[in-house]
Amino acid sequence: MFGIFGFSMYSEFIQKLNKILGGIKSCVIIPHKNPDADALGASLALSIFLTKKKINTNVILPNSPPSYLKWMLSGHEVISYEESPEESKRYLSRAEIIFALDFNSLKRIGLLSHEIEKNKTQIIMIDHHELPENFSTVFLSEPKIGSTCEIVYNIMKSINKKFIDKEIATYIYSGILTDTGSFKYPLTSGATHKIVSELFKKGINHTDIHERIYDNFSFDRICLLATALKNLKYIDKLGVAYMVLTNKTLKKYNFKRGDTEGFVNFGLRINGVSLSVIFIEDKNENLIKISFRSKKNLDVNRFAKKYFSGGGHKNAAGGFSKDSIHETEKKFISSIHEFLK
Ligand code: 5GP
Ligand code: MN
Repeated sequence: MFGIFGFSMYSEFIQKLNKILGGIKSCVIIPHKNPDADALGASLALSIFLTKKKINTNVILPNSPPSYLKWMLSGHEVISYEESPEESKRYLSRAEIIFALDFNSLKRIGLLSHEIEKNKTQIIMIDHHELPENFSTVFLSEPKIGSTCEIVYNIMKSINKKFIDKEIATYIYSGILTDTGSFKYPLTSGATHKIVSELFKKGINHTDIHERIYDNFSFDRICLLATALKNLKYIDKLGVAYMVLTNKTLKKYNFKRGDTEGFVNFGLRINGVSLSVIFIEDKNENLIKISFRSKKNLDVNRFAKKYFSGGGHKNAAGGFSKDSIHETEKKFISSIHEFLK
């Protein structure tokens, strides 16, 4: 249930955390950049929980969330470093502890990492990605658990389960739902489902959460998906499918961050495909953002790390390329041939 480190690692973490929480009055919670429902859900759930423990808690996002997750923020004072750097610095300077949620490498919080490095405040990392980097003294790294929300739920339950209310349960469910691919990915477990049944007892409305997250496309977004699918490329002898979205196409459909969320999964629906990839041109950051999804034993974490400066999980990873879209596609074709040899 508690991943590769086993139960003793977990109880040691809870002990340390309890001790730390007993001695502080304020903290900051930071999820990764371009937050998804797991990162946001875990941060907001923990924030409400710590507030109930009379700890002044501020959530600082490296940048603002995509529009399909804006509903999660309503009623909460959450700031983004990109929009409010000075206020973020003020919160950081006051915090006695920083929680790092749903990332295990400071690269994943972009420019906010420089503030953290200057700050020297103790960091507590809670995460489920492979190969954690060494930036926190107290951490819980559980790569065998499907979402950070599941880990945060276990932690809150150990500390004080009475504090877990409907709102916390809603956030936790949102993160579990999305990071397990709606309970489909291999890391989804009986323990995951048991937690979900506990969340149901808190009165969550799972249909409503599903609709807010998934059934909320703008017409432009559907057109963007249609274009991506129409141009899908398929290398049948390798079982590889990939899509390319150029800046021109993105502009045509008024692309907003988050609009391409989930597109990459469509490639996996093809019978015989074990790797699906999407390349998205990002003119602002001057790079190509890449997402990888795989089935079974094809390890995209290793592939993304080796060829595209990225990482993530065995079946879902990301990376980037600084080359042109054409060069990136060429590099991908040759590297995937080499990788699958
Ligand atoms: P996505 O493709 O949805 O952006 O990310 C899939 C998974 O890979 C997520 O767990 C995410 O945290 C991870 N990931 C995405 N991009 C990167 C990256 O550039 N570097 C690393 N190390 N992980 C990434
Ligand atoms: Mn996650």
